[in-house]
Amino acid sequence: MLLAKTRPLRTLAFRLTLIYAFAGLLALVLVLAGCYLVLKSMLQRELDEHLVSEIVEYGALLKEQNLDILRDVLEQEAYSEGVDRIFFRVFDASGKEVIGTDVRGWTGLSAQPPALLAAMHGQTVFETLPGTETTFPARIVYGLMTPSLVLQVGASTESTALILRQFRRIFVAAMFSFFLCSIILGAVIARRALAGVRETTNTARAIIAGAWLSRVPVSPRGDEIDELALTFNRMIDRIQVLMQEMREVTDDIAHDLRTPLTRMRAQAEEVLDCPSASSGERELAGGLLEEADGLLGLINTMLEISQTEAGVKEVRRERVEMGEVAQEVCELFAPAAEDKEVSLTCERVSALPVKGDAQKLRRALAHIVDNAVKYTPAGGSVMVSCQTRNGMAVIAVRDTGIGIGAADLDKIFTRFYRVDQSRSQSGNGLGLSLARAVCHAHGGEITVQSELKRGSTFEMSIPAA
Ligand code: ADP
Repeated sequence: MLLAKTRPLRTLAFRLTLIYAFAGLLALVLVLAGCYLVLKSMLQRELDEHLVSEIVEYGALLKEQNLDILRDVLEQEAYSEGVDRIFFRVFDASGKEVIGTDVRGWTGLSAQPPALLAAMHGQTVFETLPGTETTFPARIVYGLMTPSLVLQVGASTESTALILRQFRRIFVAAMFSFFLCSIILGAVIARRALAGVRETTNTARAIIAGAWLSRVPVSPRGDEIDELALTFNRMIDRIQVLMQEMREVTDDIAHDLRTPLTRMRAQAEEVLDCPSASSGERELAGGLLEEADGLLGLINTMLEISQTEAGVKEVRRERVEMGEVAQEVCELFAPAAEDKEVSLTCERVSALPVKGDAQKLRRALAHIVDNAVKYTPAGGSVMVSCQTRNGMAVIAVRDTGIGIGAADLDKIFTRFYRVDQSRSQSGNGLGLSLARAVCHAHGGEITVQSELKRGSTFEMSIPAA
């Protein structure tokens, strides 16, 4: 069974990309917000300084000229700059307005502002007049021109507001472009950084699928990912050695058991052939012979699996008609199926040639058909069909039997594994291991699909000749 593929939105690369992008965006927002505040206060200070300089300038003028001249100058100034952009008012010590430019466009302006009193005492007072829907806020300054005259200058903050608005637009555009760029850049960097992890996962998947010789490529950079790859490769080497050792031990035991078992079998046969043997002795010898045959069959199958998996003997490469093999196997199991009242049918095909060992292929298919008949209750059916698919000769064995649960599906090809509910049937749990070893030795594969109580489909695929 293959591991489930990680969904793109759940990948570490995606999360890292998002984290980088948001962290970058936050930093950018903080920097831009800081710049915005500094710019805002700079513009405000500049405006304030300009307004104060106006008071100083007109105070100096008043020292040389009279009030009428000042009135003309102030009105001229207000008209040239725009009466809705700047206004001037001069108040005497009693708070009476002695000069005033056009202030009709300045809503909310009080006739005798309280700040006047403070200005009379020599302070420079700043005020901000809030804007309305149609006007910008205004900045107002009160300052003493002469010991008895206060000048009130008000200027619209329109130009400051326009500069700040422009800045905000750039701010938002910069944020969007930065976020987009950082997502793209982050994705590329995260993908590259995690390429090693992906390769390790792919290798692990390949190993699970049986490619034990696969290893993760290690780059000469020697970073953490290379260390992970190196450790992973070493772990697989170690597991392979342990598995090999375990296999050798079991193979050795099987090998060593074969000789005494064959001897026991021969002795039992001798007793059976002996005319003077009593019926009790014959019965004992018969039982012994049967058990010895069973054990020898198991040992031989185990050794055959090991040899086929290890590729000890090169697989014969003769032309084999898989259609004929399927037909022969079906004929072989027809009596057993009939006894069990299971219908066994074989779909005939004209040509399905492969290159391989006919005897081994027949044995492999026999195990699958034997299982199908064995695990299908009376009244069920087993159908063997042959076809060519993607350059492979595919023999499918479909049954309507007891089926295999999802948890057992990837284990049934392991040696000696038997699903609990099938233990009442004869068997040793080696048939499918042998079938799979034979398929692999031919460059093919064996797969299974099954549903409990509905049946199973085993497919043997061998490269077509
Ligand atoms: P066995 O000798 O026990 O049949 P196999 O290696 O051939 O050993 O099969 C392993 C296990 O897989 C069986 O014990 C059985 O539980 C299960 N199995 C195999 N083929 C089928 C099938 N067609 N239907 C249901 N279960 C099956």
